[in-house]
Amino acid sequence: MSSLKERNVAAKQTTASRDVEWVPSICNFCSTVCNVRIGVKEVNGKKTAVKIEGNPNSPLNRGKTCARGQAGLKQTYDEGRLTTPLIRVEGSKRGEWNFRPASWEEATNYFMQKMQENQVQPWEMAMVGGWTSCVFYMPLALAFAFTMQMPNIVAAPMQQCVTAGHLGNDFVTGNFNFHDEVLADFENAKYIIFSATNSGVAAASTSRLVRFAEAKKRGAKVVVLDPRMSELAAKADEWLPIKPGTDSAFFLAMIHVILRNKLYDLDFVRDHTNMSFLAVEHQGMVVPMMENDEKGNPTAFWVIDEITGEVRKLPGYNNTNTVDVDGKKLVPALEVPKGFEMNGQKPKTIFQYMLEQTAKFTPAWAEQETDIPAATIEKIAIEFGQTRPSLIDPGWHGARYGNMINTRRLQSIVQALVGGIDTTGGWLMSGEYREKLLHFVKNMKEGKPTPILGLPGMNFPLTAAGKFFDPASWQHGHPSFAMAHSMAEKAAGRQGVVMPAFSDYGLEEAIDGKLQYNGQPYKIKAILMNAANPVRHYYPESRWKKMLSSPNLGILAVIDIVPSDTAAYADVIFPNQNYIERDEPFIYGAGPSTDHAITTRFSAVESSADLKGTADILFGFAQAFGATDALVQTISELNGMNLQDLQEQIGKAVKGQQTYTKALRNVSFKHHSKNLGMSPEKLEQTLREKGVLIVETADKMREHATLLKDLPVPTPSGRIEIYSLYLAGFTMQQGPSDTWNPGFVYIPPQVNQAKKPDEFNFIYGKVPTVSYASTNSNNPILMALSKVKEDEFMGLWINTQKATLLNIKTGDTVTVENLVSGQKAQIKAFVTEMVRPDTVFMSSSWGSENPLLKNAAGVGTAINKLIPYQVEPLVSAFRSQEFTVRVTK
Ligand code: SF4
Repeated sequence: MSSLKERNVAAKQTTASRDVEWVPSICNFCSTVCNVRIGVKEVNGKKTAVKIEGNPNSPLNRGKTCARGQAGLKQTYDEGRLTTPLIRVEGSKRGEWNFRPASWEEATNYFMQKMQENQVQPWEMAMVGGWTSCVFYMPLALAFAFTMQMPNIVAAPMQQCVTAGHLGNDFVTGNFNFHDEVLADFENAKYIIFSATNSGVAAASTSRLVRFAEAKKRGAKVVVLDPRMSELAAKADEWLPIKPGTDSAFFLAMIHVILRNKLYDLDFVRDHTNMSFLAVEHQGMVVPMMENDEKGNPTAFWVIDEITGEVRKLPGYNNTNTVDVDGKKLVPALEVPKGFEMNGQKPKTIFQYMLEQTAKFTPAWAEQETDIPAATIEKIAIEFGQTRPSLIDPGWHGARYGNMINTRRLQSIVQALVGGIDTTGGWLMSGEYREKLLHFVKNMKEGKPTPILGLPGMNFPLTAAGKFFDPASWQHGHPSFAMAHSMAEKAAGRQGVVMPAFSDYGLEEAIDGKLQYNGQPYKIKAILMNAANPVRHYYPESRWKKMLSSPNLGILAVIDIVPSDTAAYADVIFPNQNYIERDEPFIYGAGPSTDHAITTRFSAVESSADLKGTADILFGFAQAFGATDALVQTISELNGMNLQDLQEQIGKAVKGQQTYTKALRNVSFKHHSKNLGMSPEKLEQTLREKGVLIVETADKMREHATLLKDLPVPTPSGRIEIYSLYLAGFTMQQGPSDTWNPGFVYIPPQVNQAKKPDEFNFIYGKVPTVSYASTNSNNPILMALSKVKEDEFMGLWINTQKATLLNIKTGDTVTVENLVSGQKAQIKAFVTEMVRPDTVFMSSSWGSENPLLKNAAGVGTAINKLIPYQVEPLVSAFRSQEFTVRVTK
């Protein structure tokens, strides 16, 4: 029985919690988009947010949050928050915090005046920041760019973080997602391998962590490849301190072992991948035998039927190889009969080419590259291949080496070899993705177009980026500056970037006035920045400070919540509502939830009257440009929303009868309620009560929409592409590359061996308390938590043996010098056994400088003081660890 004291405490808690109203929202402190609820209470007569908890109805984070999610509360009441629009004081320099308060009208007029003074043409303006690729604002940001005829979006941190890693997976699976790639079904997997990640579980994603905890409870075997003992590696059964950047050698050896021991899932690889397709060698490249339509889409492939030995023609875009173009069943063979010839050629299957190309990648070879004993590699490959279900974490951050696309692609191939795509205990696709794919395939069969934002997987980025690259998409005939820069580089005989999608590639040249397109200067004179802090988080710091200080940049407008290091460079600042204060303008899919679920944010507390939501700020600009009607039209086209509804609701906003956010939200509720067969009021009530509405459970969806069993995936062939048709296409366009290949090659990291005692490989990563730009903004709770482990979280990890040799102790200030670029930074040392002797590690989230950030300024060292501008040639992803450093005391 409980004591009287305990009962009194419980009674008080119940009374206290009765006073709390819970408002559903979505966490904004990392890209996992956990469903949360905000506890709101009357404090001194004012509704005040007092607690953040995970939303128990969430199929994603299942009622849990991480420390960062809970600490997000403090952002609303941050003393340093921007509270009113600010205009730079005449004569002050960018970088100095010297602003005068202004009204919204004055600030908008100032922005427009600078645009006119500098005669900024539509292609001379760029939108910068994660909002442009963010699920919450992309429907609006893309529409704004198209309406304003602005072909320039720098959607960082894609280039600094996810693009390369995700694309490596996506070239195999056809998937694509700006946030979490797929939901790894840890809780049902028996064997789990992690490579080049800590963030997936230990430092970023609650949705992953809740599932990983179940896996650990059930005794799944966990193997972690990491040069340092990360938080995740500390939970592994086997920590393999791999040589930095060599993970793809490990995966090639796994493929070698799995193929030769026939540990692959025969039915899956034969029926749902392109391993059985016939191919020939052409100009040194393996090319599948296929027919294409006039747009280059494959319309037929060939295989051999194992039962009859006949050559059979398969349909182009399809989910299975078991039925030919005439509807006849077959069993595709993985190998051709001896002496097989067709049309005077001697084709082999992709499987046979794969066997040949991976022959040299033995575990003994991989030991030389990775420093992991051959016997260990062989043992892990066999265990992984023999255990079902087994799973490789899809990873997160990719922008570290030029070989990351190849690395993530090879790990996806290992996952496909064991049949673990969209299966229990493997990689599960989100309900939203499945839903989009269903619509897309239905539209395709009916010959109907799908709106851009409804395109599933790789169809979306390729279509969207293609518009930005294509001069014909724009009335003024200019492609994005990044594509213009790529063209200029190629014309000058240098290597350009094939798809510099939404990246800052060429921005410096465009601001400096050095970029030419069609014989004319292609300048960037204006930047509109939101949800971005490039001075602190993009690479390198010196480049961004120089670009943003340039007199050629006529106007820098920044939308922000706190006075970031970048806001200090603005000419005009527009203060933003934060996620606790705002209603979202749209309804969204609930992240990578495997249920098909929808969600949105509800405003939990009122913001000051001088703060606005991003939708209202953008419509304010559209109004100033006289483009409101055109923006409404584009939103309708991109999102498939009813134009009349949009016109009616936005019309009310124009008259000041409601906010633009509210107008969009009303249309979004109507749009979704129609699809769901319920009234907008009922939909709102349900989302207000639950925060998440499950439209169809994962189990139900998988009965009719399992990838490959029921649906093709968005690869060119519709199958899992072990041999990549995307990469084959790029090779045909651009010639052979040393960073991608459609087949099976090893691409070593471009890092010199650290030879001298004071030379090291450089790696960085996340810590659990402060991991993203949003979390290091100025949060007092996260800062206090981080200081408990200050040495470990903020210091330079250096191995004990090497530190002793260099007479370095924990807490000593050391200088780190980049041996490629000469960049230098000072940082305190953390001496530990938990990192390889040839490698140093630092956390990626420190070093704020603006003194108005009272909790964050001057704490730790920023990695962008050390990382130079080095990008790979496929998508201009950063090669942010591709150098060595010297460490001196
Ligand atoms: S993992 Fe943490 S910070 Fe990220 S969305 Fe979830 S609660 Fe927020």
